[in-house]
Amino acid sequence: MFDVIIIGGGPGGYVAAEEAGLLGLKTALIEKDALGGTCLNRGCIPTKSMLNSVKLYKHAQHSGQFGITAEHVALDFSALMNWKNQSVTKLVSGIEFLMKKHSITVYKGTGTILEPHKVSIAETGEVLEGKHIIIASGSEPALPPIPGIKDNDCILTSDSILTIQALPASLCIIGGGVIGMEFANFFASAGTEVHVIEMLPEILPFMDGEAVSVYKRTLRTIDIHTGAKVLEIKDNSVIFEEQGTQNTITAEKILIATGRKAVFDKSQYEAMGIACTNKGITVDDYCRTSVPGIWAIGDVTGRAQLAHTASAMGRAVSLFIAGIEKRNEKPEASRIRIPWNYFPWVVYGEPECAGVGMTEAQAIASGMEIVKASIPARSNGRFLVEQGQTGHGLCKMLVDKRTEVVIGVHLVLPYAGEMIWGMQYALAHGATVYDIAQTVFPHPTVSEIIHDAAIACIGELHH
Ligand SMILES: Cc1cc2nc3c(=O)[nH]c(=O)nc-3n(C[C@H](O)[C@H](O)[C@H](O)COP(=O)(O)OP(=O)(O)OC[C@H]3O[C@@H](n4cnc5c(N)ncnc54)[C@H](O)[C@@H]3O)c2cc1C
Repeated sequence: MFDVIIIGGGPGGYVAAEEAGLLGLKTALIEKDALGGTCLNRGCIPTKSMLNSVKLYKHAQHSGQFGITAEHVALDFSALMNWKNQSVTKLVSGIEFLMKKHSITVYKGTGTILEPHKVSIAETGEVLEGKHIIIASGSEPALPPIPGIKDNDCILTSDSILTIQALPASLCIIGGGVIGMEFANFFASAGTEVHVIEMLPEILPFMDGEAVSVYKRTLRTIDIHTGAKVLEIKDNSVIFEEQGTQNTITAEKILIATGRKAVFDKSQYEAMGIACTNKGITVDDYCRTSVPGIWAIGDVTGRAQLAHTASAMGRAVSLFIAGIEKRNEKPEASRIRIPWNYFPWVVYGEPECAGVGMTEAQAIASGMEIVKASIPARSNGRFLVEQGQTGHGLCKMLVDKRTEVVIGVHLVLPYAGEMIWGMQYALAHGATVYDIAQTVFPHPTVSEIIHDAAIACIGELHH
């Protein structure tokens, strides 16, 4: 009898397993494909490897103003993809090692919950018994019902685009969310002609509007259509409606980046009493499903679709389970909380964007009275010496005027993804703008701009 059986070895499942192992729980992890899930094999890691390669390419192309002459700079697409594959393989084997180190029993196969406490593995017919089951089966690309999308060789998903052999001359991306924009950034930097079609009024709809405007200024080579509805795809042509006019974009390849769907058998789970919606398995703030002893984490819950949110849920659930098993302690009584309102996000590429907390529009809609400051990146010493005079970027801070607590930080800056954890910590712990202003930021760093934004907000508070 296992203490925990985890279905799915992505960043939700393997992190839950690692934590459970550390806590001394007897743990089984079932994975039907490669450990690391979408994140390592088809998501975060391969795309960041590719984006890093084009960043180096761009820097080499524009190194003249920094005093470096580079001749015959070229992008070798197959070497770039090779490096990506090597990085993935290395990291997957790192997880295999981690599972061994923490005495996790890893089963290769497809796990199905037979009843609470029993999971079968389809390929071997084994049945495992466990006190707790964590469903961490993740998500996969969803194809919208657009006529002409099926059986079309020009169509790519975020999975299949990672295996192409050559750079397309042109690419039309349907969907201007994070996945769409990161691929747009990659291919445009690599030299592909890139078009983006987004149905909503703006790309990256979760991001602060002012930050999106600054981000878009850096994407001049990408042809972006917002408020545009795709009507049909005919071979390699995308027909869409924009402001009442019908338009067509023809491209060598078409990437569908309109969202992901949770991997779960809704009717089977519902028959077992596990409440679900079309978006995924319903969980409470402690990741409990409606059936005691069955938990769900990560993308399959539909609550947040990021690797670090899946891992945060996984780590917390293993701690909750250890509390139940070792001290008969209910999750509500533990010190562990999942910071649902303070999950940071990052959009990678050049420039990098990151944020945590509320956008200005959300704060205003909530009825809160705010003060805000937006500091342009060019006022920052390190940004200027590294990016030159033409770079764009900003740091925007939002503060609740009544409590002086920081409620949102939005960055369009190099290293934004490396800096945002500090603001996550600040917001999750209720830091005031004075706390940030009294924090010592090393000089010269790009992060000093956060300090500048706090000082500017204090100025506004005293106005
Ligand atoms: C192109 C792309 C780029 C991304 N970039 C980022 C990024 O930069 N940062 C970020 O935070 N997030 C990023 N994401 C999102 C991130 O990859 C996911 O949010 C994250 O992987 C979710 O983790 P998970 O553990 O919930 O599920 P997954 O990573 O999807 O893992 C689920 C695992 O469960 C397995 N599985 C499913 N059903 C069964 C079963 N019945 N039995 C056994 N195994 C099963 C699957 O094979 C899979 O390995 C990106 C996603 C994509 C597609």
